[in-house]
Amino acid sequence: MKQRIYLSLAHMGGREQDFIKEAFDTNWVVPLGPNVDAFEKELSAFLGQDRHVVALSAGTAAIHLGLLLSGVEKGDEVICQSFTFAASANPVTYLGATPVFVDSESETWNMSPEFLEIAIKDRIEKNGKKPKAILPVHLYGMPAKMDEIISIARKYEIPIMEDAAEAIGSEYNGRKCGTYGEFGALSFNGNKMITTSGGGALVCRTEEEAHRAMFFATQAREPRPYYYHEYIGYNYRMSNICAGIGRGQMLVLDRHIARRREIHKLYTVLLGNIPGVKVMQNPSFVFDSNFWLTCITLDRQVCKVTPDEIRKHLEQENIESRLLWRPMHMQPVFKDCLFYGDGTSEQLFQDGLCLPSGSVLSDNDIARVVEEIGKIISR
Ligand SMILES: *Cc1c(COP(=O)(O)O)cnc(C)c1O
Repeated sequence: MKQRIYLSLAHMGGREQDFIKEAFDTNWVVPLGPNVDAFEKELSAFLGQDRHVVALSAGTAAIHLGLLLSGVEKGDEVICQSFTFAASANPVTYLGATPVFVDSESETWNMSPEFLEIAIKDRIEKNGKKPKAILPVHLYGMPAKMDEIISIARKYEIPIMEDAAEAIGSEYNGRKCGTYGEFGALSFNGNKMITTSGGGALVCRTEEEAHRAMFFATQAREPRPYYYHEYIGYNYRMSNICAGIGRGQMLVLDRHIARRREIHKLYTVLLGNIPGVKVMQNPSFVFDSNFWLTCITLDRQVCKVTPDEIRKHLEQENIESRLLWRPMHMQPVFKDCLFYGDGTSEQLFQDGLCLPSGSVLSDNDIARVVEEIGKIISR
């Protein structure tokens, strides 16, 4: 059996254990501590725009707290991109609110500004109150059309909770994803751009908001000599050990981003010779995806195989690939939720496939993937 090629693996830079060792040597084996503080500062410097970053146990926790701080409460509605991973939408329900799903546009595969506005208008008309937050996602690292989304959000005065879990290092108009919303969420899960073995961060605009996020992430303890609680809190803070891994990963983040972009370029060239296969691209110079995952779509007029047939063939060759996210409005768990759209995300789900894109992969690995895709398509 040939060596397995994974979709997106954790990729250590080499210095991670130094930071963990330091935590052990100084007995900071707890949540909070010097690695957490330093990791937050480093992330903030990386993002720019004077953002305040709070390190948490998961990206999902970051979305949860961002929505909480946006004022989302029981009975509210939150407009959420349908074409995403369930972790974008689930936290809406943790707060007793309901997601209202909006379709994607075909250039970035992210939230359609057109359907966003249609949804807001319709909810105001039918529900008598406006949605409490807007949750766009930069899927597979591709920035959403933030100018359009922000101008609609401003018009209706609705805060944006930006899901940048897959988009660390992606830029839109020369500015890093995660800094566009009132709040932004990052993820350091094992398969993302960088990892802390599991973790995330909430990006805030002000220090007050960051303190508020830390307050809720540490059981909402009021500053008194005894334990006193006016709010329900959570245990969401990142540990000093995990943050040590994160600090090591920060040293190689730029290299990892560059490598994912290189892999995307290589796929674009090598797959260019296979008819009916289209590699997802930045729609214009305004968009600069980190290409967390390189995705393809098939032109079914030309190409007689389905994405799942390609996936199965690759699996036989010990290569991992994955169908695109099945939209949230097509998930049984969200079947009662509203959806505004024209079928763009359903089409993407039918036609697309994510290819192995981890920064650990060699040029030869990519060539092997392309060769196998070529074989099944011409069969
Ligand atoms: C990974 C991911 C999340 C959640 O991040 P975790 O750190 O795994 O909790 C949220 N949204 C999207 C789009 C993701 O890909």
